[in-house]
Amino acid sequence: MPIDPTLPYNDDNIFAKILRGEIPCKKVYEDDSALAFHDINPQAPTHILVIPKGRYVSWDDFSARGSDREIAGFVRAVGLIAREAGYVESGYRLLANVGQDGHQEVPHLHVHIFAGRPLGPMLAR
Ligand code: AMP
Repeated sequence: MPIDPTLPYNDDNIFAKILRGEIPCKKVYEDDSALAFHDINPQAPTHILVIPKGRYVSWDDFSARGSDREIAGFVRAVGLIAREAGYVESGYRLLANVGQDGHQEVPHLHVHIFAGRPLGPMLAR
C-alpha cells in the first residue's frame, strides 16, 4: 500500500529498524549521511536502496527540511556507490517514489539504484 507522505515520520518503519540494527540488511555502503543495502525483492540484476540516516519521510520532506550537509552527503553517497560498483560505463537508473501516485511503500526516504541490464523505457506504458 502506498504511504501518505504528508504524515509525520514514524520510527516504526522498516528502514528505521534497519538503521537501528534491529533487523538485518545486506549492506553495501555506509557513511555519516547514508546507508545502502540490497533490495529484498530486486527488480534488476543490481537493485540497491540508499537511505539517509536522518528521519525523513520522502524526497519531498528531505529536500525541504534536510540540511545542506545532509543533502550533499546523501547525493554524493548515491553517486559514489554507483561509480565504485562500476555502473557508470554501462549506465544505471535512479528512482525515488513519493506518495500515492509515486507508489511509495516505505515511509523513510530511499533512492533505488537499478543496474546490470538494459532497463527499458522509463515508465510502464
Ligand atoms: P518503494 O515502493 O519505493 O517504497 O520501495 C520500497 C522497497 O523496499 C521495495 O523495493 C521493497 O522490496 C524494499 N524493501 C522492503 N523491505 C525491505 C527490507 N527489509 N530490506 C530490503 N529491502 C526492502
